[in-house]
This record gives sequence, structure tokens and C-alpha cells, in this order.
Amino acid sequence: MEINHDIIEGMALALKQARHITVFTGAGISEESGIPTYRGDDGLWSKYDPARYADIGHFLHDPTYYWNFFQEVRYPLLKNAKPNKAHLVLAELESKVNLKSVLTQNIDGLHQEAGSTKVIELHGTSRVIRCIECSKEYSIDDAFEKAQCNNPPLCTDCKGLLRPAVIFFGEALNPDILQHAFDEAATCDFLLAIGSSMIVYPAAQIPMIAKQNGATLAIINKDATPYDSRADYLFHEKAGTVLAQLTGTGIYMFTKL
Ligand code: NAD
Repeated sequence: MEINHDIIEGMALALKQARHITVFTGAGISEESGIPTYRGDDGLWSKYDPARYADIGHFLHDPTYYWNFFQEVRYPLLKNAKPNKAHLVLAELESKVNLKSVLTQNIDGLHQEAGSTKVIELHGTSRVIRCIECSKEYSIDDAFEKAQCNNPPLCTDCKGLLRPAVIFFGEALNPDILQHAFDEAATCDFLLAIGSSMIVYPAAQIPMIAKQNGATLAIINKDATPYDSRADYLFHEKAGTVLAQLTGTGIYMFTKL
């Protein structure tokens, strides 16, 4: 579908004039990097049971299920995925507009790999593996090697169970990180939400907090979200397609205000 150029120009101007832009991202922004979302048509959830691989109770009951999933799916995905146009444009925007933070629900590390420097990971990262007993950290390469010899993999030092440094379903978010994210949402004057179904709480409160505090709300998401009716700019499109168009606007021609 053709994107209306005037709407893109309008959003570009609003971004240029904003004093504090906060970006909120979800799994959809990484779909064009080949990482399946949870809830799209080709979502991971159609092939694997998230109730088992992403839930803390099940992980502790049967960690081998997660580590099989890690070896067969997550590790190859993390090794092969590269930032896409949307990640790259967001990283570039730091020098073009007053972008203060990227609040991401993603656990893939692709914003940082693209060059974004103001990333807050609400749900942790799957690129770090940690011992549940002594907190010793391992790279995914080390964990992959260990899991191939012994499933579930155990800590070299204390023989504790290894787990990814993500927030599983059934676990609380880090309260300091969540508060920081809520503060960003309350302070910003422009909230750009990209690739999130906005139904996973508490992160899904972020667009509403921004809107209630007077921010302009832009949503770029392939499918409808519960906040669409509150959006000032709304694109039911792929993130890469919309953000690529921003690079053709005035944002790229003038220095930061
Ligand atoms: P979600 O799966 O609930 O929603 C993804 C949304 O992205 C959908 O509404 C879909 O319409 C949209 N989408 C799909 N492809 C898109 C594209 N190319 N451009 C724009 N939009 C697109 O994901 P969520 O809202 O992030 O929440 C679910 C949880 O999923 C989070 O807790 C997150 O930790 C986890 N998760 C993360 C990753 C990752 O790190 N890449 C992948 C899968 C799930």
C-alpha cells in the first residue's frame, strides 16, 4: 500500500520540532530481520509453545525444553539476524532529532547493533546467559557449546542451572528499569511506537502514559492495536517501509533544533 507522503512529511516535521522523543518498540520491528514475532501469522507461537519455553514455572520444571528451543531456534536466529532498515534509521535519528530513549520489549539486541545508544531493555536480553545460583555470565556461544554437551547446561563454577537474562512470563520486570521507562513516557512530547501489539503489560502502559501527559502519539504497526484510535499518526505498514520514507523528508536536510 502506498504511504501518504503528506502524512510522512507531517510526522517528520513534528519529530523535528519535538524536544523529547521516546521510541517504544516490540517484536514487529525485528520481523524484517527474520526474527518471528509472537503474534503474527508466522509467529513463533504457532510452532513452539511459549507457555513452555517462555514461562518461568515451566522453565524451572523442565529446563531442557528451553535449551532445546535455544539450540534449534533462538541461537541460530541470534547468530544470523542483522539490524534492518528500521533499526538503522532509528539509530541515525539520534543525530537528527531530539531522540532521548528507545524503550524496547525486544530481547534480540538489534537496536544496539544498529548503533542506538539510548536503549532501555524492558524484558532483558537473550544475548546474555546467567547462572541462577551465582549469577556468573556466559555468552550465547559458550552456552550453546555447553548445551550441546549437557542439557540443561550448568555453571562451570557452581553447577547452578543456566538461564537467559530475559524476563520470563511469570516474573516481574526490574522495578528501576520499569520506572525509568515510565518516566520517559511521562516526560516525552512525542512517543513513536513501532511493531508492538501493545497487549503485553506492564510495557503496554507506555503509550497511554505518554498520551495522558500530552505527548503526540505515532504508531507504526502492521496490524491494528488497542491504541490506534488515540494515535495522531497511524501507519498499518511494515516498520522498515515507513522509516525508510522518513529519510527522504526534511528531517535529513536540517541540523538538530
Ligand atoms: P507481539 O508479537 O505481541 O506483536 C508484534 C506486532 O508487530 C504485531 O501487532 C504485528 O502486527 C506487528 N508487526 C509484525 N511485523 C511487523 C513489521 N515488519 N513492521 C511493523 N509491525 C509489524 O510483540 P510485542 O508487542 O513485542 O510483545 C510480545 C513479547 O514478545 C515481548 O515481551 C517481547 O519480549 C517478545 N518477543 C521479542 C522478540 C524479539 O526480541 N525480536 C521476538 C518475539 C517476541
